Amino acid sequence: MELKSKSEIDILREANLIVADILSELEAMVEPGVTTNKLNQRAAELTKKHGAKSAFLGYPAPSPGVESFPGLICASLNDAIVHGIPNDVPLKEGDILSVDYGCEHKGFFGDSARTIPVGNISEETQRLLDVTKASLDAAIEQCHVGNRIGDISNAVQTVVEKAGFGVVREFVGHGIGRNMHEPPHVPNFGRQGQGRVLKPGLVIAIEPMVTIGSFETKLLEDGWTAVTRDGSLAAHFEHSVAITADGPIVLSRP
Ligand code: MG
Ligand code: MG
Repeated sequence: MELKSKSEIDILREANLIVADILSELEAMVEPGVTTNKLNQRAAELTKKHGAKSAFLGYPAPSPGVESFPGLICASLNDAIVHGIPNDVPLKEGDILSVDYGCEHKGFFGDSARTIPVGNISEETQRLLDVTKASLDAAIEQCHVGNRIGDISNAVQTVVEKAGFGVVREFVGHGIGRNMHEPPHVPNFGRQGQGRVLKPGLVIAIEPMVTIGSFETKLLEDGWTAVTRDGSLAAHFEHSVAITADGPIVLSRP
């Protein structure tokens, strides 16, 4: 677990502001009829414009025999939780689309995700988005020196389960820096007071993945897309956060 200096955190902030900027541009494009390939293409143009490098394109597959990740964004629709591959299917009114984007800038990585409503969505679906976002905010509030990873994990789980939703176990948040994924793991479930102590200079990506139904997942045949086993809707919000003596800095918040 590498701790970052002030100047390294400054570069991580730059990288994550690029991420935030690109996610906001993509979010503004989301409407019925748009395809995720179109969003991916725009992400490619914007990444180039910023002089950054995609963190996802070509990412090695989790299992043998699967091609490396073919997109710059993960586009996970409705019951897809994470790692969805962009495609030519037009978005429909009432869908929810989780867009995850990461890039490398000056040798450091940025990583953030949002679940975006397509047109009007149902009240229950809106509640899923609100609760997932609230669980991320609750986690960020725990990002103080002296707290532990378990305090972050427990904050997410408490908010989600109080709302009657499921919190995904198979995928977790992570440290971030000169690598996209670094130690420590940051699970979205766990016990207060457990795990590593948070020190100044620790930078982590916190990313609650929340389901309306059961938290169990399965992998689609493409070898990448993780969906809910019961077909219920899933949401995913992610921020990269630096822990400092002065409190958390949400690096990917514009
Ligand atoms: Mg991400
Ligand atoms: Mg991440």
